Amino acid sequence: MSRNNIRSKKNIIFTIVIVVLTAAVAAGLLLFFSLYDFNHDYGSGSDQTLTTDVSSQYSSDSAEEHTSSAVTEFTQLDDPLLVLVNEEHKMPDSTDDGVVEQYGITLDSRALEAYGQMYQAAAQEGITLWIASGYRSPELQAQLYQQEIDMNMENGMTENEAVEAADRAVQKPGYSEHNTGLAMDFNTVTDSFKDTDTYAWLMEHAQEYGFILRYPEDKEDITGIMYEPWHFRYVGVEHAKKMNELNMCLEEYVEYVRSQQS
Ligand SMILES: [Zn+2]
Repeated sequence: MSRNNIRSKKNIIFTIVIVVLTAAVAAGLLLFFSLYDFNHDYGSGSDQTLTTDVSSQYSSDSAEEHTSSAVTEFTQLDDPLLVLVNEEHKMPDSTDDGVVEQYGITLDSRALEAYGQMYQAAAQEGITLWIASGYRSPELQAQLYQQEIDMNMENGMTENEAVEAADRAVQKPGYSEHNTGLAMDFNTVTDSFKDTDTYAWLMEHAQEYGFILRYPEDKEDITGIMYEPWHFRYVGVEHAKKMNELNMCLEEYVEYVRSQQS
């Protein structure tokens, strides 16, 4: 009994010591952070306030200029065949105004005409081409994107996870080259397409009709898209030949053309 008393007294003293120590540490931390915040505000904070006040009172115009020059705005080139559409660059509205449907194929009229010629030339050499996917309207793209999100959520993802996964798998409406009518997927749309005679033929002759392999294996870092042997893009004969000669993907070529113009 007396042992128990001593033990419980010890326990009480021990508890008191802990409480006091904790309070002291907490007070110390509180003091430290309040001093730290005070110094912080006094130092850089007041400078920032001063700068903002001066610029907003006397030079709001130059402040705006400063903001817009800090963010580099991407502008499309004047040549509509060189429209750059990727994860970062949405296609301008009405880019797909020239889309037509013929023989069950829907593409930009210029791309469709060139494809018709290429198809015939290939056929004469025993090469069979077909278009698995051509133009996709931004509305259809929106449906595909939403379907992907829905499917991911049905498979147990949270909404955020589902959107993130969809962003990796499907382009947002207006951000897919297929929305322009200038891009097409050939034949099987599989990696093994690169081992076919058709692919070899395209790599040799597509440029003669104005088509380029849009996502080459050695440009993944620049295009941000994995090598897609089946996905070709119409840019016109002149640009296609020049791009292959310079070994440039569209992202590089657009900047190259811009540098030549300025
Ligand atoms: Zn494609």
